[in-house]
Amino acid sequence: MKILENNICRIEYSSTLQEIAEATLKLLEKKIPEYEMYFDIKIEEKIKINYFDDLQEFRNFINNLRNNNSLPEYAKGTYDNDMVNCYIEKESQMERVYTASHELFHILYQKYILEKNNIDRVVWLDEGMAQLMSGEKEKLQDEEEFRKFYINAKKQTKTIPELGSLIHGQQFCNEKYNGYYLSYIAVRYLLEIIGKEELKKIISNAEKIKEYGNKIVIKSFNYYDKKYCNDDSFSDEINYLENLDFDSDSITLKGKK
Ligand SMILES: [Zn+2]
Repeated sequence: MKILENNICRIEYSSTLQEIAEATLKLLEKKIPEYEMYFDIKIEEKIKINYFDDLQEFRNFINNLRNNNSLPEYAKGTYDNDMVNCYIEKESQMERVYTASHELFHILYQKYILEKNNIDRVVWLDEGMAQLMSGEKEKLQDEEEFRKFYINAKKQTKTIPELGSLIHGQQFCNEKYNGYYLSYIAVRYLLEIIGKEELKKIISNAEKIKEYGNKIVIKSFNYYDKKYCNDDSFSDEINYLENLDFDSDSITLKGKK
């Protein structure tokens, strides 16, 4: 493994991954101060990143750290032991530049906010915020790009899950919905309706996370349907859900009632 480091992070990487290693160092020089400001923290220790160009080597590394085989099949990045660990395909390495800033968001959120306030991780909020803050969805700042993203994500959603109770693994991403897309839409929706400051308060408040997380997908779909496409294909479900108690299981579209 080769090493690239400066005073804030240290990257260990397979020699074929030089390009992404250099780009990551540059991105994190920008992101780390942003995160410090956002969480109101000062990071004392160096951020450690491990990039593997071999999938099996990556999986062995993680399973070794965990002492088990709990790594999901689809996982290409983790933040075990407060390190960013990734398998990177060398041919398309630059597509993964934002993975490190995404995982780093999870690390800092867990360590400085959740653990300090004794709050359990809520996956949709953590994943949504990581996508929002990491820079990976920068393109979607453009309204028209986001509209296209939303319509596509909705099309792929066959079942509307209750995001508040979802955990990672099969439940979060499957052929019926993509939990990452839905989480991003949910956080983006919150950002639009309550603003940046209130959203910042929510992430460290378990009660509010629960309150805002109730039926978050259906609420955000409702909001963006009105805003973008006048498409009311979920309107039956919305009416139905309006009359339901919270914490119902996931609702399968079409065919329920
Ligand atoms: Zn993530």
